[in-house]
Amino acid sequence: MSLCYNGVVRITIIGLGLIGGSLGLALKQSGWRAADIIGYTRSRKSASAALKLGAVDKISAELQESVKDSDIIIVAVPILAVLDIFVKIAPVLKDGAIVTDTGSTKLQVMQWAREFLPSNVSFIGGHPMAGKETSSIEAADAGLFWGCLYCLTPQNRAAREPIDIIKDMVIAIGAIPFDIDPAEHDSLVAGISHLPMLLSVALVLATAGHPDWSKMSKLAASGYRDMTRLASGNPDMHADICLTNKHNIASWLDTIIAKLQELRATVSEGDTRIRVMLTLAREARQKWLKERESKK
Ligand code: NAD
Repeated sequence: MSLCYNGVVRITIIGLGLIGGSLGLALKQSGWRAADIIGYTRSRKSASAALKLGAVDKISAELQESVKDSDIIIVAVPILAVLDIFVKIAPVLKDGAIVTDTGSTKLQVMQWAREFLPSNVSFIGGHPMAGKETSSIEAADAGLFWGCLYCLTPQNRAAREPIDIIKDMVIAIGAIPFDIDPAEHDSLVAGISHLPMLLSVALVLATAGHPDWSKMSKLAASGYRDMTRLASGNPDMHADICLTNKHNIASWLDTIIAKLQELRATVSEGDTRIRVMLTLAREARQKWLKERESKK
C-alpha cells in the first residue's frame, strides 16, 4: 500500500460546506498525521472562505488535479453529486488511496463506489451523526463531531489497514467510529433522522398553510420553534436523502401515520388512555436521555 501511514498524510476534501469545512478544521486542529489538506469545491466563495478559516492548506480549481496525489479523499458533497465525482476521480486516483464520503444515506453510495471506483483503492463509507440545520462553510465548526458517533460502512473488499486509518482519523476529530452494515444504517437513520425531519416539515406545512396562521404564528413560542427546527434544514440535502432512502422512509411514515391515527382516536373519543400513551412516551424519552448522558 502506498499510503504514507506513519508520515504526513495528503488529504483532499471535495465539498467545503458545513461537513467538509468542519472536517478540515477538526483535522487541522487535531494535527492528525500532520495532514496536508487540499480543498476542492464548486463554489469559489466557499473555497476562499475555507482557506481563510484554515480548514484547508490550499485550494485546487481542478477536481482531478486535486485528488491525483492524495492518500485520502473525503467526498463531502450532496448525495446525488457523489456519483459524478466518483466517475471523474476514478481514472486518476493513486494506487492504494482511500476514498470516504459523508453522505446521510449509505446504500446508494456503496453501490456507486462498487461500480465506479477502481479496485486498487479502498472505499469506506462514512456518516457523521452530527450536524446543524444551517449548512455552508460559514457554519463550519472544529468541534462539530466531538462525542458523536461516526458511522462507517467499509466495502467488503476493503483491507484492515485502510479501515483502521479512517477509524484513527475519526477518533482524532473527537468522534466515535461505529461499524454498521449500509442497509441497516439506512433503515435505522430513516427512523431517528429522516422521519423527524419530515414530521417537522409536515408540522410547518400544516400550520403555516392554515387560514388562521397569521394569528397562530403570533402565539407560537419555544415548543413550536423546537419541533420545527429541522424544517429549517437545507432543502436540497433533505431531498437527496428522501430520493436515496425512499423505501425505508415510506415504511417509517406508515408507522407514524398508524401511531397518529391511534392518538387521534384516543383524543377524539375522550379516552383516558391518552394519559397512558403520554406517560409511556415521556418515560421512553427520559430513558433515552439518561442513557445518552451516561455515555458522555
Ligand atoms: P453543504 O451544502 O453545507 O456543503 C456542500 C458543499 O458541496 C458545498 O461547498 C457545495 O459547493 C459543494 N458541492 C456541491 N456539489 C458539488 C460538486 N458537484 N462538486 C464539488 N463540490 C460540490 O452540505 P453539508 O451539510 O456539508 O453536507 C455534505 C454531505 O454531508 C451531504 O451528503 C449530507 O448528506 C452529509 N451530512 C450532512 C449533515 C448536516 O447536518 N448538514 C450531517 C451529516 C452528513
